[in-house]
Amino acid sequence: MSRPAIAHIRLDAFRHNYRVAKQAHAGKALAVIKANAYGHGAVHCAKAIEGEADGFAVACLEEALQLREAGIPEPILLLEGFFEAIELPEIVANDLWIVVHAQWQVEILFAAKLAKPLHVWLKMDSGMHRVGLPPDEYVQAYERLKNHKNVGKIVLMTHFANADNVSSNHTLQQIETFQNTTQGLSAEISLANSAAILGWKQAKCDWTRPGIMLYGADPLMKADAKLKPVMQLTSKIISISNVKQGESIGYGSIFTAERDTVVGVVACGYADGYPRSAVTGTPIAVDGKMTRLIGRVSMDMLFVDLTDIPNATIGSQVELWGNQVSANAVATSAGTIAYELFCNVKRAHFQYFD
Ligand code: PLP
Repeated sequence: MSRPAIAHIRLDAFRHNYRVAKQAHAGKALAVIKANAYGHGAVHCAKAIEGEADGFAVACLEEALQLREAGIPEPILLLEGFFEAIELPEIVANDLWIVVHAQWQVEILFAAKLAKPLHVWLKMDSGMHRVGLPPDEYVQAYERLKNHKNVGKIVLMTHFANADNVSSNHTLQQIETFQNTTQGLSAEISLANSAAILGWKQAKCDWTRPGIMLYGADPLMKADAKLKPVMQLTSKIISISNVKQGESIGYGSIFTAERDTVVGVVACGYADGYPRSAVTGTPIAVDGKMTRLIGRVSMDMLFVDLTDIPNATIGSQVELWGNQVSANAVATSAGTIAYELFCNVKRAHFQYFD
């Protein structure tokens, strides 16, 4: 028997979530499938909405080439643009769009000899202070780009730092800074990531850039987002033992049984992407019944409390997250976010369902 840790990927759910994103904010949507579609498989996800997607966004050239080699014809935006001049001919040859987020990129772009002009998304730092041109340099950079032979169409963009916090006014401040700076420029605009699509109607404009919501995790943690989970991570029980009250289990003996406990061992650990930082009590489903993680997660195995699931047996099906157990709940209990959980699932067998 091969290792039973399996990532079941529901491409119909991915397609559904893309449609939810499109309906939530009218306009065009670039499906963000960087980092191998947040661990779900970029080519599979892109093909699931091929012909329907307005375009895709990835981090870098290598990720875009993987999609082009798989025959994906839609526009692809490189969210980090380029790192070195040497990438530009290949970017042009593959019809890729680039984000320009810094002056040094503008200078490299101007110095290059290109076969055709590049489609540029000019990024403003409107308050996140990560990358992007500051507002006081933005309009001048736009004018220079607009008049340069290496530049074709320009889209104006910014990225939000706190869109998942609906009680913070930072998103509105960023929108205001962006609008004040770009007043009078006639170009398409792109503002919203998933959290802004779901939480900030003020961010509606020409292009959205949904990422995490496409994978079924609502960054606002609301129950009514109509999103469907895409990844279900499952494995099986490979050992069952009875531990007496007062006995401890696993590395560090961090869990001591408060009552006689039936302990199941699941073939899934942090090398499969399950977070080591998940604490006792993190929800897990065994044969469809909810129970909890106990003790410390190890590299290939974790412990589950089977005391109240008397029918559980060797081979019982375990859901680490997916349908019954939300990835957001596991992430919260591990002090992280669903993005990181998904990206870390690499060793499990991947099975795709249309
Ligand atoms: N736009 C940009 C510039 C990003 O960097 C990202 C992701 O980090 C996204 C959009 C998608 O964000 P989310 O996954 O929160 O929807």
